Amino acid sequence: MSPTQREVYLVIGGSGFVGRHIVQALLDRGDSVAVFDIVQRYDDVPFYSGDISDEEQVSLALQRSGANCIIHTASPPHGVEDPALYWKVNVEGTKAVIAAAVANKVPKLVYTSSAGVVFNGEDLVDIDERLLPPEKAMDAYNESKAKAEEIVLAANGKGGLLTVALRPAGIFGPGDRQAIVGFATVLEENKAHFQIGDNTNLFDWTYVGNVAYAHILAADKLVPPTEVDVKTKRENLDKALPA
Ligand code: NAD
Repeated sequence: MSPTQREVYLVIGGSGFVGRHIVQALLDRGDSVAVFDIVQRYDDVPFYSGDISDEEQVSLALQRSGANCIIHTASPPHGVEDPALYWKVNVEGTKAVIAAAVANKVPKLVYTSSAGVVFNGEDLVDIDERLLPPEKAMDAYNESKAKAEEIVLAANGKGGLLTVALRPAGIFGPGDRQAIVGFATVLEENKAHFQIGDNTNLFDWTYVGNVAYAHILAADKLVPPTEVDVKTKRENLDKALPA
């Protein structure tokens, strides 16, 4: 992209909790944004209705929006009793997004993965992005998210596409329909008389505005690395490794 060419973002899953915050943050800084989703929640942003498992629909949205950066946050929510749906949307759908991006010469794809992809049921302390998913995933949701993340990262640098995946843990903030709603339901149903583990468990939570900001920073930084970048990154990783 030339320095004068403006970024146009297609936020896939842009009607969702995280997606809406990404859309708003992009609008707030004056960027051009369009949304692709199976659910329409906008009247002030170009909206393309479609399912990511249909490559043609994604392609059409890319062509009509003129997008040159995809932020892909779409997924069925955690906890759905339908493993095939997770595979169809997260794995096959993500493949379709990548194929459509390459076919339409879109140079950037940011993917919302999940910290759950590395959870193996044990405590995870001081881990970073080098931790690989466990051999057996916790559930169908995390299995499909891990596979999708693997596919997104494998697509990096191929067919003119640069990719990055983010792994948020718990997300809270305005518009959340999962976390706080789940806690409130437990309370309302008087099911609060239990303890998890020895009651010293910790869990990572990130404010949704910061998750949205992280996606935008990732998109901004998604440029072909120079040799100096690669060398510096390697040195920094070596320093971070325990001696
Ligand atoms: P959400 O359910 O609010 O939003 C997901 C959006 O994707 C919805 O608008 C939905 O309509 C859309 N979508 C689902 N299937 C689709 C399909 N086949 N085609 C097109 N659009 C489709 O979920 P969220 O909380 O905003 O999560 C966004 C992303 O962040 C997801 O990928 C999720 O796995 C990931 N994530 C969420 C959390 C969290 O705590 N909410 C934590 C870690 C990772």
